[in-house]
Amino acid sequence: MQTDDPRTTIRRAGPPDPDGRCVVYWMQRAQRAVDNPALDTAVEAGNALGKPVVAFLGLVPFVERANLRHYHFLVEGLEDVAEGLARRGVGFVLRRWPEHGLLAFCAEVRPALVVGDENWLRQPAAWRGKVATRLRVPFWTVDADVVVPTGLLEREQYAARTIRPRLLRQVDRFLVPSAEPKARIPWQQPTSLMSLPVSPAILEGLPIDRSAAPVAGFRGGTREGLRRLRGFIRSRLAAYDRQRNHPETDGTSELSPYLHFGHLGPIQVARAVAAADGTVSATAFLEQLIVRRELAVNFVRYNPHYDTLAGCEDWARATLTKHRRDARPVRYTDAQLEAGETGDPLWNAAQRQMVRTGWMHGYVRMYWAKKLLEWTAAPAHALELAIRLNDRYELDGRDPNGYTNIAWAIGGKHDRAWGPERPIFGTIRYMSFASTSRKFDWRAYARAIDAS
Ligand SMILES: Cc1cc2nc3c(=O)[nH]c(=O)nc-3n(C[C@H](O)[C@H](O)[C@H](O)COP(=O)(O)OP(=O)(O)OC[C@H]3O[C@@H](n4cnc5c(N)ncnc54)[C@H](O)[C@@H]3O)c2cc1C
Repeated sequence: MQTDDPRTTIRRAGPPDPDGRCVVYWMQRAQRAVDNPALDTAVEAGNALGKPVVAFLGLVPFVERANLRHYHFLVEGLEDVAEGLARRGVGFVLRRWPEHGLLAFCAEVRPALVVGDENWLRQPAAWRGKVATRLRVPFWTVDADVVVPTGLLEREQYAARTIRPRLLRQVDRFLVPSAEPKARIPWQQPTSLMSLPVSPAILEGLPIDRSAAPVAGFRGGTREGLRRLRGFIRSRLAAYDRQRNHPETDGTSELSPYLHFGHLGPIQVARAVAAADGTVSATAFLEQLIVRRELAVNFVRYNPHYDTLAGCEDWARATLTKHRRDARPVRYTDAQLEAGETGDPLWNAAQRQMVRTGWMHGYVRMYWAKKLLEWTAAPAHALELAIRLNDRYELDGRDPNGYTNIAWAIGGKHDRAWGPERPIFGTIRYMSFASTSRKFDWRAYARAIDAS
């Protein structure tokens, strides 16, 4: 059995095991049963081989920087996964640490082929590499959470202007709806095969960081993500172009947590928006969802230093080094910053929004990160702190978008040098309270956060 799908990487080659009893879909990044090219690939392979398909999800406590807030959202999504898989005739086995191992599961169910999804962040990419060396059957991974498969871009792209034409050339080819194939041979779950029920209780006793509480304003899951997508299209999309830089209004989609956890796939979101509205607003939205988001995935895939200044360009590192010892007229400790106790009411409101609601408006995220450069002792520390806070509190944190945009704000990644040269920032693009607070009603933004 072969595949020439550019979305698919063959991590362990060879023919499927003819004695294998099923096809396993190892679900990690794409936690959904619709618009999921990795699941589709597993189902099509199962149908071609005449074997049933079973999806396996092993919940582990050692995902870097994930805490209860994130795990809670993930678990809320599992009910939709289980229901959706059942509709497609695919089995679902859910386990948790210390019984989370894919290899042990495979030893029990004896697959002919294992299909995984793709995640280019360092830790999950290493897991995939390790599994490829240990499995005894073919192992394919499918780039399910981008519109244009990342491999087609071949190398790190310099900026949005270099990736945009490459993506736009390919986009129509990949912006096609999933056929949502159903498994022809139904999966019969052996009674001896252990699988946990989908329930919040799955988190009980799991040794995870519980210091960031779940948030009430976002409920995980494909169903809720689709409800929000419909609401966005109905009442916000037409004005998106004008409102998206107005944090005092609810002008954006707020879909980033759903895209991060794979509860929604970008193809379905892009198609729904494009079909609803052919105007500048849809174009502006697709620029964020496809060009900016896939530039971020490209950075993480092709630059191993995506979370340090080493991942930024020479000009940016040189200007930051030149200004490294500049006086910092205003300095705050990490604890003051985390508590949102600075002298800047807009920044404090943004920090409160993130800590309390698990999501910060995109326009203020830029300002928020740039102020960390201004208020801390060194650029490397500012970057590390921005990542630490972003990953801890944002539901969409621990994502290529976060690493890339923080590198943009503090290290000039994908940007260019801006004059005039300033203290601390050098030629990194600067944002001041005076200029930022003039562009929108920042008091209304802060009031809304305090009222929520
Ligand atoms: C310092 C900083 C940190 C950020 N951290 C994260 C993060 O951890 N996770 C995250 O998903 N996004 C992050 N972003 C990018 C962006 O701010 C959020 O994706 C966006 O605000 C999410 O809100 P939304 O879903 O309403 O976006 P919308 O405006 O509705 O956009 C739709 C989708 O497009 C994508 N998108 C939008 N803006 C960007 C962008 N600038 N770069 C890449 N993709 C984008 C997102 O997936 C988003 O859900 C960060 C930006 C900055 C400046």
